[in-house]
This record gives sequence, C-alpha cells and structure tokens, in this order.
Amino acid sequence: MPELPEVETVRRGLEQKLNNFIINKVEVCRDSTVAFPSNKEEFIKGLQNSLIYKWDRRGKYLIAQLKKVQNENAQYPLEYSQNKGFLVIHLRMTGYFKFIEKSTHPCKHTRIRFFDKNNNELRFVDVRSFGQMWWINKGLSLNKIIKGLGSLGPEPFSKDFDANYLKKVISKRTKSIKAILLDQTIVAGIGNIYADESLYSAGISPFREARTIKKNELIKLKESIVTVLKKSIGSGGTTFSDFRDLEGENGNFGLQTNVYRRTGKQCRKCGRLIERQKITGRSTHWCPKCQK
Ligand SMILES: [Zn+2]
Repeated sequence: MPELPEVETVRRGLEQKLNNFIINKVEVCRDSTVAFPSNKEEFIKGLQNSLIYKWDRRGKYLIAQLKKVQNENAQYPLEYSQNKGFLVIHLRMTGYFKFIEKSTHPCKHTRIRFFDKNNNELRFVDVRSFGQMWWINKGLSLNKIIKGLGSLGPEPFSKDFDANYLKKVISKRTKSIKAILLDQTIVAGIGNIYADESLYSAGISPFREARTIKKNELIKLKESIVTVLKKSIGSGGTTFSDFRDLEGENGNFGLQTNVYRRTGKQCRKCGRLIERQKITGRSTHWCPKCQK
C-alpha cells in the first residue's frame, strides 16, 4: 500500500503535470470508486469546468483544490476566482494515476477518467478497486464527510509531532509501538514499511509496549521517522508496493531497506539474521540484536 512518501511523490507529479488542468469531461468507469456524493452524476457535474488549482496531501490523502472556470480569457489572478470545492483521493492498495497526452483506449482496470478540452487525460487505474474519490463542494466539511481524514493525527514533518506529543499519547498505551505507529489517528501516513524501517533506525524493538518507551528513545524515534520518510520521498517512493508514479513507472531509484522484506538476511549493522513475525496482522521485520 502506498505510504506517505509514495503519496507525496504522486502529489509532486500531479503538481508538475497538471499545471492549469481544466476538467472538461469526467467519465466514471466504476461507480463504487466514487465515495461522495452518493449520486455519481452529481460528482461528474461538480467536477466539470473546474480548474485544478493546487494539490495538497494530508496523511495518505491527496487533496486537489478546485476553482470555478468562468471565462478562460479572464485576466484576473486565479486565487480570486470562486472556489469549487475539493477533489479528494485515497489510493488504498493499488490505485494510481496516469497522465496521458492525447487520450488512448483505457485498460480494464480504469476507474475514473478526467479530460481537458485538448483530450489530455488524467486516468485513475486501480486493479483491486479499493481506491476512493470524493468531490466535496465548498461550504461542506472535508473532515466530517471523510471520517478517516477528520481523525488523522499530526503529519510526521509538522512541529506538532515531537517526543513530547508521543510521550503524551502513548503514556498509558499497552499496545506495541509498531501498532501505535500504524495508527493513523496518532501519526498520519506511516504504514508497514516505514514503521519497520523507523523502529530499526531508532534501535527500538517493534514488540515493546508503547508506554515503556523513554523520552530519549522517543526523540530518536521521531528523528528516525523523519529521516526515513525524507530519504524515501527523495528517491520517489519504494518499490515494494504496486506503487506507480504518473509515468506508470514503479518508483525505485536504488532505495535500500534495512529490515523490510529482508527476513533471513544479515543485519547491515551486526550481521544477525533479520526476523519476521506478525503484529496485529501485519508482517513485522526486525533485528533482534540491534532493536531492544
Ligand atoms: Zn542488527
């Protein structure tokens, strides 16, 4: 599943490719991809004649700010034109976008297609079909309509996410630290890969009860999370999911993991073999010697 670095890579790609993209036509190939409004015609109508003004990311959600297109030749700055709500996307397991100049015939996994007047297409492809999209009209609350968005914890890069915050939220938690890191209401955007890699880098066992972790360890954990995520964003995301960037490429520019999917291989620091075990249903990889 794409995690924060992959979604951020997609966001940057969209920002680059879809500069001033005006949605002229929308085609919904699979109704269930539209999560809101419940009427797909309303979704289509709401998005038509919208300019994608800005791409944001919150956790694993992509959020496009839309502006109303009144007169394409109007000379006033866009920031003053009327808002037309938001297009929100969650890629889930296998969703990805593809930007196609001069649209071609879609593959059978195509779920939603956006066209501009020159027939350039932004295509949403999703093999397993868990991906979702919302069109939230202005005046409506994103956080109320999209429950998962409303309950998200702080972004790992924000100043709200530090050792004091972590100490406060985990001080009574008996869950494992691994389960805590996967909890999107505690911190946004971290999934299985980056939880394992961050814990390795901080030298903390994924099985530790969250409340037993000391302040100095939490400082290290926060630093590790930020370093691991930044490094991955810099490399365009990992290659371990079915993640693809806008060119349809699997993002991997030589990024190495230390523990994730390295079961039975030697730890890069101490040589002990990396182990794997499930924690709350998720495969967890760690070095028994380096992580205490
Ligand atoms: Zn080791």
